[in-house]
Amino acid sequence: MSSLLQRLANDYPQFRFIQSDRARWSASEQTIYYTDDQLQTLHELGHALLGHNTYRQDVELIQIERAAWVKAQQLAPQYGLSIDNDTVEEALDSYRDWLHSRSKCPRCHQTGWQDSHDLTYHCPNCQCVWRASDGRQARMRRVRQ
Ligand SMILES: [Zn+2]
Ligand SMILES: [Zn+2]
Repeated sequence: MSSLLQRLANDYPQFRFIQSDRARWSASEQTIYYTDDQLQTLHELGHALLGHNTYRQDVELIQIERAAWVKAQQLAPQYGLSIDNDTVEEALDSYRDWLHSRSKCPRCHQTGWQDSHDLTYHCPNCQCVWRASDGRQARMRRVRQ
C-alpha cells in the first residue's frame, strides 16, 4: 500500500480501499477501488465524500464527474498533490465523447434523446429506440486502453 493510500485509509476509516485494475467508487459497498493513478484515486474519494450513488440520465454524469474532480482538487494539497484544470477538462472531455457515442442512433447515426424514466434513447429521425449498455464500465475500459 502506498503512503497516499495509508493516509487516505487513516483519514477516511468509513470507506474501504481495495486495489483494483479499474478505479471506481462503489456506493453499495462503501468501497473505493483504486489503481496506481493517485489523482484518479482522489477523484473516486470525491465521489465517496459527496455521497454519489447512482446517476440517472447520462447528462447528469458530467455534473457528477465535475463535482468529484472539484472535490479531488480541494483534497489534493493535503496529500502533496495538485490537480490542474487541464487535467479535469481532459477527463471531462473523455466523458463527453463517450456520452456522445452512446447517444448516436445505431441505425442512422442521428443524435438521440434519452428518456428520463426508463433511460432508453430515442432517435428523432428514424424512431429507433435503444439502450446504452452499462455505462461506467464500458467507458472506463475505453479510457484505459
Ligand atoms: Zn468519476
Ligand atoms: Zn435513427
